[in-house]
Amino acid sequence: TTSEPLLKIAGLSSGYGRVSVLEGIDLEVDRQEIVVILGPNGAGKTTLLNSISGVASASAGHVTFDGRDITGAKPEQVVRLGLTHCREGWQIFQRLTVEENLVAAHIGRGGKSFEALRAEVFELFPILKERRNSVGSRMSGGQQQMLAIGRALMAEPVLLMLDEPSLGLAPKIVHQIFRIILELSKAGISILLVEQNVQRALKCGDYAYLLNTGRIRLHGPAQDIAAHSALGEAYLCGA
Ligand code: ATP
Repeated sequence: TTSEPLLKIAGLSSGYGRVSVLEGIDLEVDRQEIVVILGPNGAGKTTLLNSISGVASASAGHVTFDGRDITGAKPEQVVRLGLTHCREGWQIFQRLTVEENLVAAHIGRGGKSFEALRAEVFELFPILKERRNSVGSRMSGGQQQMLAIGRALMAEPVLLMLDEPSLGLAPKIVHQIFRIILELSKAGISILLVEQNVQRALKCGDYAYLLNTGRIRLHGPAQDIAAHSALGEAYLCGA
Protein backbone atom coordinates (compact mmCIF):
# COMPACT_ATOMS: atom_id res chain seq x y z
CA THR A 1 0.00 0.00 0.00
CA THR A 2 1.02 3.63 -0.37
CA SER A 3 1.65 4.15 3.36
CA GLU A 4 4.64 1.82 3.21
CA PRO A 5 7.97 3.30 2.14
CA LEU A 6 8.83 2.69 -1.51
CA LEU A 7 12.20 1.20 -0.54
CA LYS A 8 12.87 -0.36 2.82
CA ILE A 9 16.21 -1.79 3.85
CA ALA A 10 16.39 -3.64 7.14
CA GLY A 11 19.47 -5.04 8.83
CA LEU A 12 21.44 -5.22 5.59
CA SER A 13 24.97 -6.56 5.76
CA SER A 14 27.17 -7.05 2.76
CA GLY A 15 30.78 -7.42 1.69
CA TYR A 16 33.25 -9.03 -0.65
CA GLY A 17 34.21 -12.61 0.10
CA ARG A 18 35.14 -12.72 3.76
CA VAL A 19 35.56 -8.95 3.99
CA SER A 20 32.50 -7.37 5.55
CA VAL A 21 31.76 -3.82 4.34
CA LEU A 22 28.21 -2.99 5.47
CA GLU A 23 26.78 -3.92 8.83
CA GLY A 24 23.14 -3.72 9.82
CA ILE A 25 22.00 -0.94 7.51
CA ASP A 26 18.44 0.35 7.97
CA LEU A 27 17.27 2.86 5.39
CA GLU A 28 14.01 3.97 3.81
CA VAL A 29 12.99 5.96 0.76
CA ASP A 30 9.45 7.26 0.56
CA ARG A 31 7.58 7.93 -2.64
CA GLN A 32 8.52 11.26 -4.28
CA GLU A 33 11.44 11.68 -1.91
CA ILE A 34 15.09 12.54 -2.59
CA VAL A 35 17.27 10.63 -0.13
CA VAL A 36 20.97 11.36 0.04
CA ILE A 37 23.72 9.03 1.21
CA LEU A 38 26.86 10.83 2.31
CA GLY A 39 30.15 9.53 3.57
CA PRO A 40 33.89 9.55 2.99
CA ASN A 41 35.76 7.40 0.48
CA GLY A 42 35.49 3.73 1.28
CA ALA A 43 32.50 4.19 3.61
CA GLY A 44 30.50 1.63 1.64
CA LYS A 45 28.17 3.89 -0.33
CA THR A 46 28.68 2.14 -3.66
CA THR A 47 28.47 -1.25 -1.98
CA LEU A 48 25.12 -0.19 -0.51
CA LEU A 49 23.67 0.75 -3.91
CA ASN A 50 25.12 -2.44 -5.40
CA SER A 51 23.48 -4.52 -2.69
CA ILE A 52 20.10 -2.91 -3.39
CA SER A 53 20.25 -3.33 -7.17
CA GLY A 54 21.58 -6.88 -7.05
CA VAL A 55 25.06 -6.09 -8.38
CA ALA A 56 26.42 -7.26 -5.00
CA SER A 57 24.67 -9.75 -2.75
CA ALA A 58 23.70 -9.17 0.85
CA SER A 59 24.90 -11.57 3.53
CA ALA A 60 22.08 -10.60 5.91
CA GLY A 61 18.99 -8.43 6.01
CA HIS A 62 16.17 -7.58 3.66
CA VAL A 63 15.47 -5.19 0.82
CA THR A 64 11.82 -4.47 0.01
CA PHE A 65 10.84 -2.41 -3.00
CA ASP A 66 7.28 -1.40 -3.80
CA GLY A 67 5.97 -4.07 -1.46
CA ARG A 68 8.13 -6.88 -2.87
CA ASP A 69 11.07 -8.61 -1.26
CA ILE A 70 13.94 -8.09 -3.73
CA THR A 71 16.70 -9.44 -1.47
CA GLY A 72 19.02 -11.46 -3.68
CA ALA A 73 17.22 -10.52 -6.92
CA LYS A 74 19.33 -10.05 -10.04
CA PRO A 75 19.93 -6.56 -11.50
CA GLU A 76 17.85 -7.33 -14.60
CA GLN A 77 14.91 -8.37 -12.41
CA VAL A 78 15.23 -5.31 -10.19
CA VAL A 79 15.28 -2.87 -13.13
CA ARG A 80 12.09 -4.45 -14.51
CA LEU A 81 10.32 -3.63 -11.24
CA GLY A 82 11.17 0.04 -11.69
CA LEU A 83 14.36 0.39 -9.67
CA THR A 84 17.17 1.65 -11.90
CA HIS A 85 20.78 1.97 -10.76
CA CYS A 86 22.89 4.52 -12.61
CA ARG A 87 26.32 3.26 -11.63
CA GLU A 88 29.43 5.26 -10.90
CA GLY A 89 31.71 5.99 -13.83
CA TRP A 90 29.29 6.65 -16.72
CA GLN A 91 27.77 3.40 -17.80
CA ILE A 92 27.56 4.08 -21.50
CA PHE A 93 28.74 2.30 -24.62
CA GLN A 94 31.74 4.28 -25.83
CA ARG A 95 31.56 3.03 -29.41
CA LEU A 96 27.84 3.53 -29.89
CA THR A 97 26.18 6.83 -30.73
CA VAL A 98 23.97 8.71 -28.29
CA GLU A 99 20.92 7.44 -30.13
CA GLU A 100 22.18 3.83 -30.12
CA ASN A 101 22.98 4.10 -26.41
CA LEU A 102 19.36 5.06 -25.77
CA VAL A 103 18.03 2.25 -27.99
CA ALA A 104 20.15 -0.26 -26.07
CA ALA A 105 18.78 1.02 -22.75
CA HIS A 106 15.12 0.74 -23.76
CA ILE A 107 13.89 -2.44 -22.09
CA GLY A 108 10.20 -1.95 -22.76
CA ARG A 109 9.25 -1.57 -19.12
CA GLY A 110 6.24 0.62 -18.42
CA GLY A 111 3.88 1.88 -21.07
CA LYS A 112 5.88 4.44 -23.01
CA SER A 113 7.28 3.96 -26.50
CA PHE A 114 10.95 4.39 -27.34
CA GLU A 115 10.13 7.61 -29.21
CA ALA A 116 8.22 9.08 -26.28
CA LEU A 117 11.02 8.28 -23.82
CA ARG A 118 13.69 9.59 -26.18
CA ALA A 119 11.73 12.82 -26.52
CA GLU A 120 11.66 13.16 -22.73
CA VAL A 121 15.40 12.57 -22.47
CA PHE A 122 16.13 15.08 -25.25
CA GLU A 123 13.93 17.64 -23.54
CA LEU A 124 15.84 17.24 -20.28
CA PHE A 125 19.21 17.23 -22.03
CA PRO A 126 19.04 19.24 -25.28
CA ILE A 127 22.76 18.63 -25.82
CA LEU A 128 22.04 14.92 -26.30
CA LYS A 129 19.63 15.74 -29.10
CA GLU A 130 22.25 17.95 -30.73
CA ARG A 131 24.84 15.20 -30.41
CA ARG A 132 22.56 12.26 -31.11
CA ASN A 133 24.86 10.90 -33.84
CA SER A 134 28.13 11.29 -31.89
CA VAL A 135 29.75 8.22 -30.39
CA GLY A 136 30.07 8.04 -26.60
CA SER A 137 33.83 8.36 -26.54
CA ARG A 138 33.60 11.72 -28.34
CA MET A 139 31.44 13.26 -25.65
CA SER A 140 32.71 15.32 -22.73
CA GLY A 141 32.54 13.93 -19.19
CA GLY A 142 29.43 15.97 -18.45
CA GLN A 143 27.71 14.84 -21.63
CA GLN A 144 28.56 11.22 -20.85
CA GLN A 145 27.05 11.61 -17.39
CA MET A 146 23.91 13.10 -18.94
CA LEU A 147 23.74 10.18 -21.34
CA ALA A 148 24.14 7.75 -18.45
CA ILE A 149 21.17 9.38 -16.70
CA GLY A 150 19.26 9.43 -20.00
CA ARG A 151 19.88 5.71 -20.37
CA ALA A 152 18.61 5.09 -16.85
CA LEU A 153 15.43 7.02 -17.68
CA MET A 154 14.75 4.76 -20.68
CA ALA A 155 13.76 2.07 -18.15
CA GLU A 156 10.98 4.33 -16.75
CA PRO A 157 12.23 4.13 -13.17
CA VAL A 158 9.99 4.60 -10.15
CA LEU A 159 13.15 4.87 -8.07
CA LEU A 160 16.41 6.08 -9.58
CA MET A 161 19.68 5.42 -7.75
CA LEU A 162 22.52 7.72 -8.77
CA ASP A 163 26.12 7.06 -7.70
CA GLU A 164 28.13 10.27 -7.56
CA PRO A 165 26.67 11.86 -10.69
CA SER A 166 28.66 15.07 -10.13
CA LEU A 167 32.04 13.37 -9.75
CA GLY A 168 34.79 15.07 -11.73
CA LEU A 169 32.51 17.52 -13.51
CA ALA A 170 32.89 21.29 -13.93
CA PRO A 171 30.82 23.44 -11.51
CA LYS A 172 28.46 24.58 -14.25
CA ILE A 173 27.69 20.98 -15.22
CA VAL A 174 27.33 19.97 -11.58
CA HIS A 175 24.74 22.72 -11.20
CA GLN A 176 22.89 21.39 -14.23
CA ILE A 177 22.93 17.79 -12.95
CA PHE A 178 21.43 18.85 -9.60
CA ARG A 179 18.77 20.88 -11.40
CA ILE A 180 17.85 17.78 -13.42
CA ILE A 181 17.66 15.66 -10.26
CA LEU A 182 15.14 18.12 -8.81
CA GLU A 183 13.18 18.08 -12.07
CA LEU A 184 13.02 14.29 -12.10
CA SER A 185 11.82 14.36 -8.54
CA LYS A 186 9.09 16.87 -9.43
CA ALA A 187 8.07 14.54 -12.27
CA GLY A 188 7.40 11.87 -9.63
CA ILE A 189 10.59 9.79 -9.66
CA SER A 190 12.00 8.94 -6.24
CA ILE A 191 15.75 9.41 -5.95
CA LEU A 192 18.46 7.72 -3.90
CA LEU A 193 21.59 9.77 -4.38
CA VAL A 194 25.17 9.02 -3.34
CA GLU A 195 27.24 12.20 -3.24
CA GLN A 196 30.57 13.58 -2.06
CA ASN A 197 29.30 17.09 -2.71
CA VAL A 198 27.84 17.37 0.80
CA GLN A 199 26.42 20.89 0.91
CA ARG A 200 24.84 20.70 -2.51
CA ALA A 201 23.39 17.25 -1.89
CA LEU A 202 21.87 18.36 1.43
CA LYS A 203 20.31 21.36 -0.29
CA CYS A 204 18.72 19.14 -2.92
CA GLY A 205 17.70 16.21 -0.69
CA ASP A 206 14.74 15.72 1.64
CA TYR A 207 16.39 13.20 3.93
CA ALA A 208 20.00 12.18 4.46
CA TYR A 209 22.00 9.29 5.83
CA LEU A 210 25.63 9.55 6.77
CA LEU A 211 27.54 6.34 6.24
CA ASN A 212 30.99 5.71 7.65
CA THR A 213 32.92 2.45 7.92
CA GLY A 214 29.91 0.44 6.88
CA ARG A 215 27.36 1.80 9.33
CA ILE A 216 24.79 4.57 9.39
CA ARG A 217 26.23 7.17 11.78
CA LEU A 218 23.64 9.89 11.48
CA HIS A 219 20.33 10.33 9.67
CA GLY A 220 17.52 12.82 9.53
CA PRO A 221 15.85 15.49 7.42
CA ALA A 222 18.49 17.01 5.12
CA GLN A 223 18.11 20.47 6.68
CA ASP A 224 18.76 19.07 10.15
CA ILE A 225 21.79 17.12 8.96
CA ALA A 226 23.16 20.26 7.28
CA ALA A 227 22.85 22.10 10.59
CA HIS A 228 24.05 19.20 12.71
CA SER A 229 27.05 20.16 14.79
CA ALA A 230 28.43 16.62 14.77
CA LEU A 231 28.24 16.24 10.98
CA GLY A 232 31.91 16.94 10.37
CA GLU A 233 32.94 14.69 13.21
CA ALA A 234 30.74 11.79 12.12
CA TYR A 235 31.99 12.27 8.60
CA LEU A 236 35.63 12.08 9.53
CA CYS A 237 35.73 9.66 12.46
CA GLY A 238 32.70 7.49 11.97
CA ALA A 239 31.74 7.40 15.65
P1 ATP B 1 34.08 5.70 -2.85
O1 ATP B 1 33.53 7.06 -2.63
O2 ATP B 1 35.56 5.63 -2.76
O3 ATP B 1 33.51 4.99 -4.02
P2 ATP B 1 32.31 4.15 -1.19
O4 ATP B 1 31.74 4.75 0.04
O5 ATP B 1 31.43 4.05 -2.36
O6 ATP B 1 33.64 4.90 -1.53
P3 ATP B 1 32.74 1.35 -1.53
O7 ATP B 1 33.17 1.51 -2.93
O8 ATP B 1 31.40 0.77 -1.27
O9 ATP B 1 32.84 2.73 -0.76
O10 ATP B 1 33.84 0.48 -0.77
C1 ATP B 1 33.71 0.09 0.58
C2 ATP B 1 34.85 -0.84 0.96
O11 ATP B 1 34.77 -2.05 0.20
C3 ATP B 1 36.23 -0.26 0.69
O12 ATP B 1 37.07 -0.61 1.76
C4 ATP B 1 36.67 -0.95 -0.58
O13 ATP B 1 38.06 -1.10 -0.61
C5 ATP B 1 35.97 -2.30 -0.49
N1 ATP B 1 35.64 -2.83 -1.82
C6 ATP B 1 34.93 -2.21 -2.77
N2 ATP B 1 34.77 -2.98 -3.85
C7 ATP B 1 35.42 -4.13 -3.59
C8 ATP B 1 35.63 -5.36 -4.32
N3 ATP B 1 35.13 -5.54 -5.53
N4 ATP B 1 36.36 -6.32 -3.71
C9 ATP B 1 36.85 -6.15 -2.47
N5 ATP B 1 36.68 -5.04 -1.73
C10 ATP B 1 35.98 -4.04 -2.27
